[in-house]
Amino acid sequence: MIHGSTLNNIQETNMTMKKSTSVTKDPICGMTVDEATALHAERDGKTFYFCSDHCRQKFLSTRAGAKTEEKSGGCCG
Ligand SMILES: [Zn+2]
Repeated sequence: MIHGSTLNNIQETNMTMKKSTSVTKDPICGMTVDEATALHAERDGKTFYFCSDHCRQKFLSTRAGAKTEEKSGGCCG
């Protein structure tokens, strides 16, 4: 008797189906934007996408990591 049973292990690789359109989030308003059509700007080697030029300009005028939540007080103390 010859035991010649060979099991063919067919491993199906989980291929991630990448859609032609990849979406990301607008860092300013949090809106979901399409990378293919959205406006973008680069900072620190990363590319950020924006829903509109308004958000893009806001991003560009804002320093990276700088959170300016402080509001200047009124003239009258
Ligand atoms: Zn936006």
